[in-house]
Amino acid sequence: FPITVRNLSEAIGRPAKSIMGYFFQDGKMVTINDELGEEDALEVAMELGVDLEIKRGRDIEAELLASLDHDDDEDTMEWRPPIITILGHVDHGKTTLVDRLRSANVAAGEAGGITQHIAAYQIEHDEQALTFVDTPGHAAFGEMRARGANVTDIIVLVIAADDGVMPQTEECISHAKNAGVPIIVALNKMDLPEVDDQKTLQQLAQHDMLPSEWGGEYEVIRTSGETGLGLDELVETIQLTAELHEYRANPDRRAVGACLEAFRDEGRGVIAWLIVQKGTLKVGDDVLCGTTYGRIRAIYDDQDNEISEAGPSRPVKVAGLNEVPTAGVHFFVMEDIEEARQVAETRLHEGRAEVLSTRGKPRTLEDILSAAREGEGMQTLPLIVKADSPGSLEAIRGELGKFEHPEVQVAIIHQGVGGVNESDVYLASAADAIIIAFHVVAEDRAEQLAEKEGVEIRRYNIIYEVTEQIRLSLEGMLRPEK
Ligand code: GDP
Repeated sequence: FPITVRNLSEAIGRPAKSIMGYFFQDGKMVTINDELGEEDALEVAMELGVDLEIKRGRDIEAELLASLDHDDDEDTMEWRPPIITILGHVDHGKTTLVDRLRSANVAAGEAGGITQHIAAYQIEHDEQALTFVDTPGHAAFGEMRARGANVTDIIVLVIAADDGVMPQTEECISHAKNAGVPIIVALNKMDLPEVDDQKTLQQLAQHDMLPSEWGGEYEVIRTSGETGLGLDELVETIQLTAELHEYRANPDRRAVGACLEAFRDEGRGVIAWLIVQKGTLKVGDDVLCGTTYGRIRAIYDDQDNEISEAGPSRPVKVAGLNEVPTAGVHFFVMEDIEEARQVAETRLHEGRAEVLSTRGKPRTLEDILSAAREGEGMQTLPLIVKADSPGSLEAIRGELGKFEHPEVQVAIIHQGVGGVNESDVYLASAADAIIIAFHVVAEDRAEQLAEKEGVEIRRYNIIYEVTEQIRLSLEGMLRPEK
């Protein structure tokens, strides 16, 4: 807290008048409520014969970051349900699939819950819970990750067999691969007559996703949301994947997790969908969530039943926050409401939603180069390439393939035909990538988003300029004096 004349006087047991007098001699007028710099405070204390030691307050943001990034002790860890996100091109059957999976689990009387929007839910299979997060599209998935919230353990990529890999499927693949989590493919709409599943397998192989039936590492499950075909197999494959990865968390600590979405409810005030990542969230907990805070008044499960607490991987709705938090920010249970309020208000004041996770830290060309020079080996500059035609994309790939630099290599983490969209920007933000726009422009909303996220979009019209520019900017960094 600030060092004022008043609290310094109290701390060192000398009258405030003496402190003010000291400054007056120095030609400075201070009042009892004025704030003093640390150095001034030390000096005046010494002058008044007191050896003052200033203890810095706890760095709460650093503690929060540590609680996110560091694993708890091995012996506190317990099994937790895997968290699954379903992604896919529009109309390929995500909603239908989700409804099927859920309705198999919701008792008939409670089935009304199905029609209302659910941000996340759990299903039981073989007495084990699986948590599904229903992001409203892969841009939202990217947004969560750009905010630093990496809650997903496993991705199910839905591809309609009659349509195959579509532009949005490609975007999903890039997001999924960048998230670095296992991907299971649901080859959907297999009930349709005359669908050619081999075509889609081939497309997957072309996208570096060799199906396991062809010797690759990607499980492809034939499904139909319409008939229910393959859904058991899909769930079993998810479960096998989860067993292989042994997802665990410490349930016995103050809860931390992420906000999936939030809204204002007429009757209940602010309602936030939270997913617990570690610890157990309880009614009465004092929570910080982005720039909002509050005491948890009520917790509801995914079927709107009131519950008193929620452990790791459990998605819940909570009431009690003072404002509607942003989707994708983390939440933390704090020591008390005062601490939660203080951090929330400081963040609000500083215009920042939350402490950046070390993983989500912005990385510039400069960071990449200095890491290379610090002997961390070859560094990778991730690029997203958008162009006006498949031919242009090919040409740019070829040109980038020729790029050589002793310390930096480029990697295309996503490419596509068309303007720069929001999905591209979120992916770039999450992956610290630069977007190359060749003969295309950014959509208005993507442009604004890029500004906000600090994502660089570089526009080019001549192929060789792309690599030339990257090389020049790297060299510019190498020789800062120019
Ligand atoms: P989403 O946009 O990915 O959520 O797709 P939807 O679940 O809304 O489905 C889009 C359309 O495809 C709807 O008309 C569904 O009835 C249809 N559909 C979804 N799944 C299947 C399926 O497995 N087989 C068939 N034949 N149609 C399906």
